[in-house]
Amino acid sequence: MLIGVPKEIKNHEYRIGLTPAGVKELIANGHEVMVEFNGGDAIGFGNDQYVAAGAEIVESASEIFARADMIIKVKEPQPVECEMLRPGQLLFTYLHLAPDPKQTELLIKSGCTAIAYETVTDNAGTLPLLAPMSEVAGRMSIQAGAHHLEKAQGGCGVLLGGVPGVAPAKVLIIGGGVVGTQAARMAVGMGADVTILDRSLTRLKQLDSEFDGRLRTIYSTADAIEAYSSEADLVIGAVLIPGAAAPKLITKEHLKAMKKGAVVVDVAIDQGGCFETSRATTHQEPTYVVEDVVHYCVANMPGGVARTSTMALTNATLPFAVALANKGAAKAIADDKHLANGLNIHAGKVTCEAVSVALGYDY
Ligand code: NAD
Repeated sequence: MLIGVPKEIKNHEYRIGLTPAGVKELIANGHEVMVEFNGGDAIGFGNDQYVAAGAEIVESASEIFARADMIIKVKEPQPVECEMLRPGQLLFTYLHLAPDPKQTELLIKSGCTAIAYETVTDNAGTLPLLAPMSEVAGRMSIQAGAHHLEKAQGGCGVLLGGVPGVAPAKVLIIGGGVVGTQAARMAVGMGADVTILDRSLTRLKQLDSEFDGRLRTIYSTADAIEAYSSEADLVIGAVLIPGAAAPKLITKEHLKAMKKGAVVVDVAIDQGGCFETSRATTHQEPTYVVEDVVHYCVANMPGGVARTSTMALTNATLPFAVALANKGAAKAIADDKHLANGLNIHAGKVTCEAVSVALGYDY
């Protein structure tokens, strides 16, 4: 199969669909790979590395879209990319179609077969191609929080781990899933005083056993949120109710009771955020202040560490990309129900139930 990896064109997107190592693996499986000129250059994956891995460097995205059997990307195709997709061409990338009728219509019109990373499942019932970005965002949330606790960044001037003779900062993590667990690892590692809230007792038991007394696990109630947030220096919002908007767990009233210069990092902002006062921000202007509390609400946190994120994403997508290339889409999907769950658009039709329900298409 001829696989094409175009340069991402969304504003400030520096990730790329395949690392050189990923390219090498596909080539070892007997395939050919084209990478757009300077596609990974911004994150240290130069053309020479792709050539060394066996790829052909191609000058333009249009050539890639014209020739490739399968396109591997990171972000959803932009309108100009949708126009270049061909009937029967395979597209493997994040799509997030439910809130995006325009892109859905363009993909239907193109006649391509589009498999969305975010709806591929696994035996544990989780989303293995979303998890790496949650891991990145979770770890990054503590790094971002620690930075904004510094006085010059508007924070209260507290060091997460304290020093001998000075107590560490108090970190509250709301939601103990992938993001929350990775945030906890970083916060515990930096010596903070960590409390994690979740509504799942099973999850709390797992966290209690995993961290073995190095953090506090508390059942998430309105009362617990109020009590722990009022004492916290840093609050991480990491809840998810699958398919729904994030619940507003911290209200403006709660903020009034919080410490002046405390920091909230609302990772759940891509689902609307779990603080009443959250609104999406960017890496260029990541924070704003409400009631003397610094809000960090960057909607695409992994984009800030594009090199790490690209490597983590390729690690997760590569086995599926190899299966699609080796067997062709029809057989790969027939053989793997989890990959089949990723199929969102095929031959001019919506093939994902959640997307069809959200946008009113027949399924
Ligand atoms: P997850 O499903 O692994 O974990 C969510 C956890 O929230 C679950 O353990 C669940 O029991 C818990 N929860 C639900 N309601 C709760 C409540 N009221 N109180 C406490 N806990 C509650 O999800 P995840 O992968 O950790 O993702 C968390 C959020 O981070 C999602 O909204 C995801 O989209 C978002 N995210 C954002 C970025 C970004 O760049 N901003 C990147 C990756 C993920």
